[in-house]
Amino acid sequence: MTGRTHDLAAITALGAVVFFGPMQTFTLSTTLVSVLANQIGGILPDIDQPTAPFWRNLPVGKFFGRIFDKLLGGHRFITHSILGLFLFGLLAKALLVTLSPIMPHTDIGFVWWAFMIGMVSHLVMDSFTKEGVPWLLPIPIKFGLPPLKRMRITTGKFAEAAVIFPGIIALDVWFCASHYHVLLEFVHRHLV
Ligand SMILES: [Zn+2]
Repeated sequence: MTGRTHDLAAITALGAVVFFGPMQTFTLSTTLVSVLANQIGGILPDIDQPTAPFWRNLPVGKFFGRIFDKLLGGHRFITHSILGLFLFGLLAKALLVTLSPIMPHTDIGFVWWAFMIGMVSHLVMDSFTKEGVPWLLPIPIKFGLPPLKRMRITTGKFAEAAVIFPGIIALDVWFCASHYHVLLEFVHRHLV
């Protein structure tokens, strides 16, 4: 999937967890940092791809992208597995704990969850593509949804641009319209 589809899927997954679970209270700081962490988590698995949006936006990104590509075993390898989720989860936790003194009013526990939700959504979305995802590395088998490869979509092609991306937007618009009172309640009572 392309970077923009991953970003959209990541924020949609975060919204689903927040609004379909028991309503929690968040500080504005936790909310903003969580959205940022979620968006980073949503594209981070593609750091193993020199052309990823993550690298494209950096001045010497292509160069570093190639290095990471080699280090991480090529595209859709360790960063696209449960083992990768675990390793990046540990790194993110360590980073957040280190940064916590300069982030007052921020619940780093929830920020971490928002990041992980972004990462998991990336792997789930990539599972719908022809390439599949090696969820169980080091077992070198790529899994996909549906299991039949020819029924899956090709990254950046018609099905993603015309069905998946607009489909998620339509889902989000429907949710916002039909759950407007829930969103208002969240802003009025659960954002402090
Ligand atoms: Zn990917």
